[in-house]
Amino acid sequence: MPLLFQDFQPLVAIATTPASVKRLRPICQATNTVLWVPDSLQHLEAVQVYSGSLSAHLETLWSQHRSFVFGLATGAVVRLIAPLLQHKSTDPAVVVVDETGKFVISLCSGHQGGADRLTRLIALQISATPVLTGAANGAGLPGIDVLGIPWGWHRGEGNWTGVSAAIARQEPIQVIQEAGSTLWQSHLPEPHPFQFGFPEHTAEVKEDVPAPKARVWISPIQRKFSSEADLPKVQWHPRVLWVGIGCERGTSRQLIETAIQQVLQANHLAEGAIAGIATIDLKADEVGLVELCRDRHFPLRCFTAEQLRTVQVPTPSAVVEAEVGTPSVAEAAAVLGASPSLSPSLRVSKQIVRAENQPGAVTVAIAQSEQEYIGRTGKLWLVGTGPGQLDQITPAAQMAIAQADVVIGYTLYVELVSSLLRPGQIIEALPITQERQRAKRAIALADWGLTVAVISSGDCGIYGMAGLVLEELRSLSWDGKTPAVQVFPGITALQAAASRVGAPLMHDFCAISLSDLLTPWEVIEQRLTAAAQADFVTALYNPRSQTRTEQIAIAQQIFLKHRDPDTPVALIRSAYRQDEHITLTTLAHFLEASIDMLTTVLIGNQSSRVYADWMITPRGYLGFSQTEI
Ligand code: SAH
Repeated sequence: MPLLFQDFQPLVAIATTPASVKRLRPICQATNTVLWVPDSLQHLEAVQVYSGSLSAHLETLWSQHRSFVFGLATGAVVRLIAPLLQHKSTDPAVVVVDETGKFVISLCSGHQGGADRLTRLIALQISATPVLTGAANGAGLPGIDVLGIPWGWHRGEGNWTGVSAAIARQEPIQVIQEAGSTLWQSHLPEPHPFQFGFPEHTAEVKEDVPAPKARVWISPIQRKFSSEADLPKVQWHPRVLWVGIGCERGTSRQLIETAIQQVLQANHLAEGAIAGIATIDLKADEVGLVELCRDRHFPLRCFTAEQLRTVQVPTPSAVVEAEVGTPSVAEAAAVLGASPSLSPSLRVSKQIVRAENQPGAVTVAIAQSEQEYIGRTGKLWLVGTGPGQLDQITPAAQMAIAQADVVIGYTLYVELVSSLLRPGQIIEALPITQERQRAKRAIALADWGLTVAVISSGDCGIYGMAGLVLEELRSLSWDGKTPAVQVFPGITALQAAASRVGAPLMHDFCAISLSDLLTPWEVIEQRLTAAAQADFVTALYNPRSQTRTEQIAIAQQIFLKHRDPDTPVALIRSAYRQDEHITLTTLAHFLEASIDMLTTVLIGNQSSRVYADWMITPRGYLGFSQTEI
């Protein structure tokens, strides 16, 4: 569970009444969070007590936490936080839970602070209504100031308030995207205010579209907007620039940093667009370089002279070759750093920078990769969505779906969870036959750094996507950690089906899928025989498709060899869905009813009985009349 709330940590909760302590407690447990209370409530368990005024206490907590959850009246919270608020780009998320637990309110820093997302999560967890008052939410749009967060883009300079206001007024917004993922463009609701498709590097107005009222640049270029410009403009910087560095031993961190800044500036490139630093392996321990990378959270990619030699560069040097065994360090490293991009291109060829009063010299070259560097460890959440109805999905699974950057699943199941989805999520609904492609796609996106929820009906680990994804990861020599995998269980079809007819499973039971797409039929037949012989209550998954009709008849014959023809059989079609249909019949006659791929067949054991409309398997082996032992 902690992974779900990782983005909001450190998180803290504050309650001032016993009722609000009760409301916040499950949230604190799920998030591993401290719950602060005044000394009047110190008798309560699992709380931390502050003494003195809450406003003084809050002042100390404020800068140490990313998110605050209050169990207080909103008015009180407004007064408490008012003196502490600075700017929406730096303020923490502030969420209020009302005392009855009916509402969770995103009070402050809804976008950049993440309060809207936290509000949705908490609301799902405690079955409350999330109260989100931002305009983008209403329109089903991602906030423009959080648009690039899933891809690790950096927010650049611009009139963010002006552009957000234009979007809220539903005015046309021109988007000029020169770099970074365009996935978000194809996952917008219709209609949306964005205009795309402008030729690169131009902002010209097209004749056949209404004049834009704001402009969004998505680019590694650092643009200067004048304050009296005609349109409000903002810029996002995807991290696509790999800075190749060559330097003399002992060059200071400051000189390296200055050199990078100078080269970026001279080429109108944004610092925010830096993905990372690349160099030769000899420099892996260069103190100035290592310090810079550590402080600025830049990955440092090092390559051997042999690797660097393979890259064709514009300015090779014989001197460098004689010294380190490759004619280029900065340029070649920049290009290799930008890999595994399909076609990294050198954007700035090497520049040598020295400073008068400092030792050493730095060579800087910059390559641009096609795919941005996200800078996070991706997550793969394998989520079981239960049989159908939303209230049959565990709150943890609901939160995972609501929280993920990307949701991948079979179209029908994506539709079933549509009310959990939030604006800005990438939803990839694929046909049911393409499970392996779905698994590969999910892994590729998580490898990139995104949080991907792969949804499967029922339990994802029972004839579901979890096995496929983990198998695929294994074949890719996954290290078990990156991407981080978490499995969210769900109510599987046999449980859902059983619940609709009573207690048919009750004792020892097994599940057998009759689909021979991924399993040889001989194996399935052996298992049917073994289950029938061993008197297991048996749930048959995938019992009959349009083309695969004989297997269910063979299964019946096998069971008839070992069980009474009157053994109860329940056919449950589409449990917990709108078109649910239930038939109680017997082993001898169940083929007379309709059975399809939406049906689970439950075959009772020797002791199973039908009573009224219920199918009951006794708790003990000693007979139906035997009471609980
Ligand atoms: N992962 C799923 C099973 C997928 S195999 C789970 O754990 O439930 C697909 C089979 O599951 C179907 O052919 C059908 O036999 C069964 N099934 C899935 N959902 C069902 C439902 N709502 N009602 C009855 N059977 C269902």
